[in-house]
Amino acid sequence: MSRVISNDLSWSVSRWQQFLFCQRAYYYNYYGSWGGWSYDAPDRARQLYILKNIKSMFMWAGSIVHELVQESLEEFTRSRLVPNAVDLQAKGRQKLRQGWIESVSKEWLHYPKKTNLFELYYGNGKSLPREQTDQVRDRVYDSLEAFANSAFVAEILQVPYLQWKSIDHLDSFQLGGCKVWGAIDFAYIDNGGKLHIIDWKTGGENPASLRLQLACYSLMAMDKWKVQLSDIELHGVFLNDGGRKSDYSMTAESLVAVKDQILGSIETLKRKLRDPENNLAEEEDFEFTGCPQNCEGCNFRAVCPCVVGE
Ligand code: SF4
Repeated sequence: MSRVISNDLSWSVSRWQQFLFCQRAYYYNYYGSWGGWSYDAPDRARQLYILKNIKSMFMWAGSIVHELVQESLEEFTRSRLVPNAVDLQAKGRQKLRQGWIESVSKEWLHYPKKTNLFELYYGNGKSLPREQTDQVRDRVYDSLEAFANSAFVAEILQVPYLQWKSIDHLDSFQLGGCKVWGAIDFAYIDNGGKLHIIDWKTGGENPASLRLQLACYSLMAMDKWKVQLSDIELHGVFLNDGGRKSDYSMTAESLVAVKDQILGSIETLKRKLRDPENNLAEEEDFEFTGCPQNCEGCNFRAVCPCVVGE
């Protein structure tokens, strides 16, 4: 028997960021595309679902690095095989090739979760300037090398596996009657009893956004593992910057402020709904707030009247 998935209102940092990016894009992403994964979905939902799954080249690079970091840490728990740059880069090369083929051959028309690159979808569909593809390849290779050679990662590998808490698993907790989603990239407890939460990054540092993300992870860890805030240490690790570690501190006051910020944003999302109880939204209630400043980089420009009607 197939499982029926209901579209419930939930919250995540990326969901809220999408709303701030553009309300109409938010609608397309979380409502219009709903059910579009099904082969026999209405054309509109299918098209929006395909667009929702488009990735920019740099997002693609980031997801390849995240996958390989996760895989190599999981592999280490099984075989004690220490991640090394050469092997990781060889796997990275394979994923880059495979993703490129998926994108150019439009496999995503049948399987929308297959790689669909923004720059190809909104370009000629076949090729990109060499410097652009080189940049992405370098980002993947450099990030994987930084991970493999990182002193911080070497430290993590010394921590007994039983003290590891999470390797990039999507999870949720309840806040204000709403599910808050997040996937902690990695967490472990050190020998002094402190919980370290790590967010691997492959782009530049955006302190406001990273602080919100890490605060969210802190709330999740406190809910899930019953840890005190004073026992949590937060780190962003910038793999595209040689593995630079940036530590973030969170006081009880700042965490309360973040909680209020999340609760306030959940209310904002609810107010946009025609029927908040059943999470029912109408497209026309979501304005083109990203227009024109964000349209150029928006996945939905192929269907959005703000661009199509130009
Ligand atoms: S194309 Fe522009 S207005 Fe339309 S959804 Fe995207 S950002 Fe919003």
